[in-house]
Amino acid sequence: MSKRVEYIFPTEWESILKRIDEIDPVKYARSRNFIDGDVTYLSPYISRGVISVKMIKDIIFKRGYKLYEIEKFIQELAWREYWQRIWQSKGDQILSDLKQIQPDFVHRKLPVAVINHQTRIDAIDKYIEQLYEQGYMHNHVRMYLASIVCNIAKSHWLLPARWLYYNLLDGDIASNHLSWQWTCGSASSKKYYCDQANISKYTGSNQQRSFLANDYEILAEMDIPDILKETTVPDLTTILPETAELKIDTTIQTCVYNSYNLDPLWRKDENVNRVLLLEPSHFIKYPVNEKVIEFILQLSKNIPGIIIFKGEFKELELLYNGKKDQIIFKEHPAFVHYKGICDSRDWLAPNTTGDFNSFFSFWKKAEKEFKLD
Ligand SMILES: Cc1cc2nc3c(=O)[nH]c(=O)nc-3n(C[C@H](O)[C@H](O)[C@H](O)COP(=O)(O)OP(=O)(O)OC[C@H]3O[C@@H](n4cnc5c(N)ncnc54)[C@H](O)[C@@H]3O)c2cc1C
Repeated sequence: MSKRVEYIFPTEWESILKRIDEIDPVKYARSRNFIDGDVTYLSPYISRGVISVKMIKDIIFKRGYKLYEIEKFIQELAWREYWQRIWQSKGDQILSDLKQIQPDFVHRKLPVAVINHQTRIDAIDKYIEQLYEQGYMHNHVRMYLASIVCNIAKSHWLLPARWLYYNLLDGDIASNHLSWQWTCGSASSKKYYCDQANISKYTGSNQQRSFLANDYEILAEMDIPDILKETTVPDLTTILPETAELKIDTTIQTCVYNSYNLDPLWRKDENVNRVLLLEPSHFIKYPVNEKVIEFILQLSKNIPGIIIFKGEFKELELLYNGKKDQIIFKEHPAFVHYKGICDSRDWLAPNTTGDFNSFFSFWKKAEKEFKLD
């Protein structure tokens, strides 16, 4: 049996700040790959735009560490930014094979054994079950899962990525879809494989025998194991809360919040309407389950006076009768159809923009910006 770590994500602002205070970047570097390592569990708050990677970096830098002591931690924060920059630069292209068609995929479905957590890889089954209960999965387990689904069961990455995203409180299309693409070789030069020994080591499992207990050369050539042969297309539908007709004071501006912007500090002291806009069209494109919606609604309680509205941006726009610059929002590649005043997000490296061939070419440039801090 592998170790069990509980994943709990409180939604009150003070608890989130406490979680940032508890980061130990030095221990993090040593242990992050292990299931019970000192990771931060901050991704649900970063993905939902409650806090930013820049805010975390600033707090850590103020503690007086030397850059080399915390480099690994800052580098991981930078991975988030790297994927976001690719999304910004490539737009909807990240929803299909980015650099090359995924090598060797044979179908566009998901193995039933994965959905039912019955792959017979103990750690994977356990953490898929926990994903359904708690909405989170450790980074290494996400990599193993993607590798098993795409490279062993030979699914095309897109449907499985949508399924994982559907179940994650920290769902971020850029980090998610691009990590799947990196694992299956459609956005990287080679596929990522994991074997049973690797999984057992990092998840604290004592399992030794399984279809993954083979050399990497054999795993790369092997037929799809019987247990992964039955496939299906899961139903991924979002159920949004019913809300009242939108009523706002149109003599003042409106700040628009959404599932990627729930920042309680944003324009905090301004006299504006604050609307959490849940667009059905967004959730058709990027479906999430009811636990994720509930998490978003709970996080929005940190924003005083917020009105929750299920509807499209156009409906909000109409209330202003064509008056310009009344709607304010934060830039985000999922919401390029918004019109009005566009605020920038907070970035680790505001001038390191555009497309980069690899994380390390991004990092080389981004890092210079921190050194200037
Ligand atoms: C197949 C796959 C799918 C993924 N899908 C998502 C997703 O939908 N949403 C999401 O937030 N992350 C995703 N990740 C990245 C990573 O798994 C999570 O960000 C991380 O596990 C979150 O836990 P944490 O906050 O404790 O991370 P920590 O290890 O404590 O890291 C701190 C922060 O650094 C950033 N970070 C760390 N590792 C990565 C990484 N590999 N890629 C990008 N950013 C990183 C995150 O913002 C994270 O919150 C995915 C990774 C894989 C392999």
